[in-house]
Amino acid sequence: MINLYGFTLGELGEFLIANDYKKFNATQIFDWMYVKKARTFEEMSNLSKDLRAFLSVACAIDLLTVKQHQQSADGTHKFLFGLHDGYAIETVLMTQDYGMSLCVSSQVGCNMGCSFCASGLKKKSRDLTSDELVAQVMTVEKECGIKVTHLVVMGTGEPFDNYDNVIRFVQIVNDAKGLAIGQRHITVSTCGIVPKILAYADEPVRSNLAISLHAPNDDLRTKIMKINKKYPLDEIIEACKIYFDKTSRRITFEYLLLNGVNDSLALADQLSDLIRGLNAYVNLIPYNHVSEFSYQRTDMTRAMQFYDRLIKRGIAATLRKEQGGDIDAACGQLRLKTEE
Ligand code: SF4
Repeated sequence: MINLYGFTLGELGEFLIANDYKKFNATQIFDWMYVKKARTFEEMSNLSKDLRAFLSVACAIDLLTVKQHQQSADGTHKFLFGLHDGYAIETVLMTQDYGMSLCVSSQVGCNMGCSFCASGLKKKSRDLTSDELVAQVMTVEKECGIKVTHLVVMGTGEPFDNYDNVIRFVQIVNDAKGLAIGQRHITVSTCGIVPKILAYADEPVRSNLAISLHAPNDDLRTKIMKINKKYPLDEIIEACKIYFDKTSRRITFEYLLLNGVNDSLALADQLSDLIRGLNAYVNLIPYNHVSEFSYQRTDMTRAMQFYDRLIKRGIAATLRKEQGGDIDAACGQLRLKTEE
């Protein structure tokens, strides 16, 4: 069975033509799936009986299985979804001032091995397919009765290690005939896979780009993120410059504040110097403790000092508020617990 959530509108049109149906049926089906939220082909009343019968036999519009659903007092929802082959992934919905923001996973496990990350404790088992990426959005919308307005590909997995499926996902959710989530409302976050940052700059449909930086010099970054050995900071910064020259899109640098590791004011100065001149801003993130690691969260006073230092040195920055602290908030925690 082909899960139709994995097709772009163009691919669905080609699939229908190849099976002797009309290209315009693709727009009708997209409307049923993404706007009217149909769960069966029978509901698609403006399709011919013959097409509905064909779709029922050859295709599916399958959501994911909800294995766990935790809800925080601040409105954060954390899901553990089961996949068809028995694997499980996490997806998190956050209620923000500006809308409903969903953080999706892109792989089962992750091979990048960042030293602070619960998701990376389990090696990658496989990439998620584009229909599994889209189904995370559709399943959460159904379970919570909401419309997702913003998307971040920042859950388990390195999105640029699953490049083609993530690109297709961005195309599908951005399509004006479907979920119509604007490109500027979608953020793909990478730990710094330089060749893919450069490739992404040439994509016709592209979202915001976030780089997980977490350290402003190679020594420290290699200690906490082993990918830095392969793609050191000067290569990342150069790729960011090329990306900006081609796209004119501002880049976000994610910076997790780890107590006593990367949160000194001297490192704030180094960070300022590293990214000065780039059209970028720094998103400072409080760390959610993971019991397997000794890292601790920077306290709020120090986090504010770090933030103030960046601002004083002319660097645009935000300090993200903590969300979901009363549930298994750190990415990968829920999956780890259920698979122990
Ligand atoms: S932080 Fe991201 S890239 Fe690094 S191990 Fe975790 S999921 Fe993978």
